[in-house]
Amino acid sequence: MFVLFCMSLPACQRRTAVNGELAEDESFEFVADRFADIEIMRYKVDDWDDLSLQQKELVYYLSEAALCGRDIIFAQNCKYNLAVKATLENIVTTYSGERDCPEWLDFMVYVKRFWFSNGFHHHYSNDKFFPDVDKSYFKQLILNSAESDFPLADGEDISRFADRMTDIVYNKTIAPVKVCQNTQKDLVLNSAVNFYENVTQKEVDKFYDQLRKNDTSANPAEPLSYGLNSRLVKNEKGEIMEQPYKVGGLYSAAIEKIVFWLQKAAAVAENDAQRTHIEKLIEYYRTGDLKTWDDYNVLWVQDTESQIDYVNGFIEVYDDPLGQKATWEAVVNYKDNVNNRRTEVISKNAQWFEDNSPIDRIFKKKEVKGIEAKVITVAQLGGANYPATPIGINLPNANWIRKQYGSKSVTMENIMYAYAQAKLKNGTIQEFYYSDDEIEAAKKYGYVTDNLQVDLHECLGHGSGQMLPGVNDDMLKNYHSVIEETRADLFSLYYIADKKIVELTLLPDTSAYKTCYYKYIVNAMMLQLNRLEKGAQITEAHMRNRAIIANWCYEKGLKDNVIEKVEKEGKTYIKINDYAKLRSLFAQLLIEVQKIKSTGDYAAAKALVEQYGVKVDEKLHAEVTERFSSLSVAPYGGFINPEFVVEKSGDKITDIKVTYPADYTQQMLDYSAKYGFLK
Ligand code: ZN
Repeated sequence: MFVLFCMSLPACQRRTAVNGELAEDESFEFVADRFADIEIMRYKVDDWDDLSLQQKELVYYLSEAALCGRDIIFAQNCKYNLAVKATLENIVTTYSGERDCPEWLDFMVYVKRFWFSNGFHHHYSNDKFFPDVDKSYFKQLILNSAESDFPLADGEDISRFADRMTDIVYNKTIAPVKVCQNTQKDLVLNSAVNFYENVTQKEVDKFYDQLRKNDTSANPAEPLSYGLNSRLVKNEKGEIMEQPYKVGGLYSAAIEKIVFWLQKAAAVAENDAQRTHIEKLIEYYRTGDLKTWDDYNVLWVQDTESQIDYVNGFIEVYDDPLGQKATWEAVVNYKDNVNNRRTEVISKNAQWFEDNSPIDRIFKKKEVKGIEAKVITVAQLGGANYPATPIGINLPNANWIRKQYGSKSVTMENIMYAYAQAKLKNGTIQEFYYSDDEIEAAKKYGYVTDNLQVDLHECLGHGSGQMLPGVNDDMLKNYHSVIEETRADLFSLYYIADKKIVELTLLPDTSAYKTCYYKYIVNAMMLQLNRLEKGAQITEAHMRNRAIIANWCYEKGLKDNVIEKVEKEGKTYIKINDYAKLRSLFAQLLIEVQKIKSTGDYAAAKALVEQYGVKVDEKLHAEVTERFSSLSVAPYGGFINPEFVVEKSGDKITDIKVTYPADYTQQMLDYSAKYGFLK
């Protein structure tokens, strides 16, 4: 299974300029809210009125389909989440006590964090988080809210309910970690994520091994993504069985609504190809059939003509400790025609990049198939992509489809722009960059290199290379995601410094890439530590992959002093002394990592990740946290969605307008009222 949900560049650093200074955009308020370690922004849906009325309708219907699955992600993240969500929201809307006090504000921070993470585990660290108010306060919030709207169990009175809910929220031993990464433990039993119930890791492995073995109908060259869209449970009789997510199956109430809006979308599709894949997706939601899912992806990836596009389904497997079960996500978007030239140039030259990559010849693709790379305007985010979103996506995930039919890769320009605007003045680079040279270069080249690195990572990095015969996607198990992200990052880092990039006029000159290198290393070795709690190790795949690359290059470059840690006035800085050598280190590591991936070498993957990608220098961590605390920088960002207002004359839609709500809490409450389909 491929894992391609990317956050390859960190929000905390997106501070930038396009061919000089990035001017402050005063026409729009980008930052909407701020709490805990989170900043909530708004994104602009540019060029909306260039779309035809039919296209606007299509975007609107797909957006409704994107929002109807919202409850699924809460349910998938942990089995307690929907009940906690209903409880918190009922308090927010009906609590009769004092709201103008610090306790209430602290409680609201917890609620906002809960919404942000789609549950009570931190969206990045995976650890359970807790309210800052004490239990007795929390309990009285419940006791002083409208009783009828709480999710009471059969025969449960409000006092019992308050005790039970308080325990779920506060008890540190209930669902402490969403995704367990500690391979010494049973990864399934120790993960709170709701993909498995009452089964051990061994039982899960055995179940799916059996399924693969028994499936005589399957074409071995086109393996199904077993387990992708189901929960695996052991019943009272001790039988292990899948509960598929489909109409009539698990999460049916939400999936039926998704189907309803997809049908409307199909009716206003831009062309036959688009209509056909939307209809195929509907068929898949109705049957839960994984072959239909593959058929859908084959159709979807080949539709490169439509201006409007979407992602909607059970897709990314980051949240399954075993990397096979997918969380539900959605994005609706359309092509950003102005910025699209960049990715068109890259895709046109994809074969050149593959042929000239430093990896071993036997791991190269002879023929790179249709990498459809585009720059998009996001119109709506849903499921696992809301409110925290990636900035680039490359799909589908099945390797065999990618090999035979290619993949679609997108860079979310308006999301990146919103980040850039929000971070324009936060002072991070002034605090952490070694000298004025790096700071000035970042102002000059930051925005172009940021965007280009995402493009290269998504549309070339993930698409490059091939597996040896007999090697399958599951062999790297829990290290699969991190190895895949490492590979894509290395590919982009290697090429961004190539003179071909300047020839293709993707960068203005041959030194621009240095800004990207400097930023990458500083971020990986220092800035990203700000996202970790004291004493924590690195667990998230993208953070791990950056740590691997930086720490490996630091160590291998020591004798030539390629990357140097310098002390200045009691503060640590990173200095890069030899950019050309750093590039050759990236190339060396890319060769290694491609070999691991292509041969499915689990032991080598484990050794690389555990040695370079997990541990944290605690002294440096403390210093980084301290320095960040003096800046007003939120380590994580997320977004409020725009809303579509349908104008009608009788039954006929005459126009659809975009509005930009600014109240995060209100949007969450509105969504729960409108799209709260699951219990
Ligand atoms: Zn990626």
